[in-house]
Amino acid sequence: MSTFPPTLFSGQRFAVVGLGKNGLPAAHALRAMGAEVVAWDDKPEAREAAADLNVRDPGEGKFDFDALVLSPGIPHRLPKPHPVAQRASEAGVPILSDTELLFRAVRAAGSRARFAGITGTNGKSTTTALLAHILQRAGLSVAAGANLGPAALSLPLLPHDGVYVLEMSSYMLERLASLRFNAAAMLNLSADHIDRHGDMGGYALAKRAIFDRQQSDDLAVIGVDDAGSRDMAAWLDGRPAAVVRVSGAESPLASGPALPGAHNAQNAAAATAMARYFGATDDVIAAGLVSFPGLPHRQQRIVTIDGVTFINDSKATNADAAERALVCYDRLVWIAGGMAKEGGIEPLVPLFPRIARALLIGRDADQFAATLSRHGVPFDLVGTLEAAVPAAFAAAKATASPVVLLSPACASWDQFTGYDQRGDRFADLARGLQAGGA
Ligand code: ADP
Repeated sequence: MSTFPPTLFSGQRFAVVGLGKNGLPAAHALRAMGAEVVAWDDKPEAREAAADLNVRDPGEGKFDFDALVLSPGIPHRLPKPHPVAQRASEAGVPILSDTELLFRAVRAAGSRARFAGITGTNGKSTTTALLAHILQRAGLSVAAGANLGPAALSLPLLPHDGVYVLEMSSYMLERLASLRFNAAAMLNLSADHIDRHGDMGGYALAKRAIFDRQQSDDLAVIGVDDAGSRDMAAWLDGRPAAVVRVSGAESPLASGPALPGAHNAQNAAAATAMARYFGATDDVIAAGLVSFPGLPHRQQRIVTIDGVTFINDSKATNADAAERALVCYDRLVWIAGGMAKEGGIEPLVPLFPRIARALLIGRDADQFAATLSRHGVPFDLVGTLEAAVPAAFAAAKATASPVVLLSPACASWDQFTGYDQRGDRFADLARGLQAGGA
């Protein structure tokens, strides 16, 4: 691995707008590659953090850039184009994502490193991390990132036999021009981000772009567990790349402790197909599935005390995601609550017999309590995670339940800065429990 040559983009001018987790590294990297960069963010705090860059509003004055690098979070079309995106469109200047610039930089530097791209409504991060883990075990030089940090333009330059494994959001996919994925996967489609894509059709089209520009020696991996994905599979059959269909209904080459449930079987199948394409053997893949440590906050095993395993699934911010975790355990104590989504926990009613006791926290605990009461599930309204964790431990021992699961089916903003802070707090509290204590 090495760094990109400092003259790679000499003579090119980029406007980088949105100086967050992708934009700031993009601006620095492009400048380090010799480009002229004008950086901007509508928020003064973000501009201050970029004080070492040439900070000015590129929307003012002549819009003479080679490209506008726009943060994934800023719309260029729907619901309403950001003014700078409007300027770019009027001036005929392409709007690109940092992943496109990474691809250009790699090729300009003369590297034939290959690219894997992973998208879908759910499972992107898990599949990206899993594929990177397997390829590393196969001895390849791997750099993983994009939507799942690190940002695309903070990844190193890889040699010819290296592989970039990129998690691609629909927003990033809308802003590609030449990036061709040697192996691309679209896992599943359910309603999400519809404000930005107009409707389900628009969203599916954005996701489908992961297969654009693929050739006959490339690989297209497609989920077939929902109708939108199956339509895409049929479309792929008419395209040049080899197609592999993956489903959560098939059993993986090996089952790893960090990959429970049918949804993870789908992720494992996708990573397996892609790893084979890059030359990993089935033995190495099977070992990688077993040794994959998992990602934090997604059914992450924290600690086992007195036979009770504490599982952090704080990323489950809606009932759909919580359902995927609950089905994995026959008998558990459940910690839930926070800011509920529409419909609350009604979709989880069929899984209620598994719940020995529930501990409810956060703003919408009363709403969840009402649903649980109607179905005879025992619960306590404890309010905070600090109260919930010891109470859940005691309840698990009293009911001989082997699992305490935090899978809140709620957003966390009422009590935390995000799901990650909520999950970290849970992990700290669980680790702080004493064996033999209550
Ligand atoms: P993303 O990066 O797409 O948000 P993650 O890998 O972070 O996806 O998983 C987030 C949550 O989505 C998981 O906790 C799980 O509930 C659910 N999930 C993961 N993989 C899948 C899948 N293949 N199909 C459906 N749901 C999934």
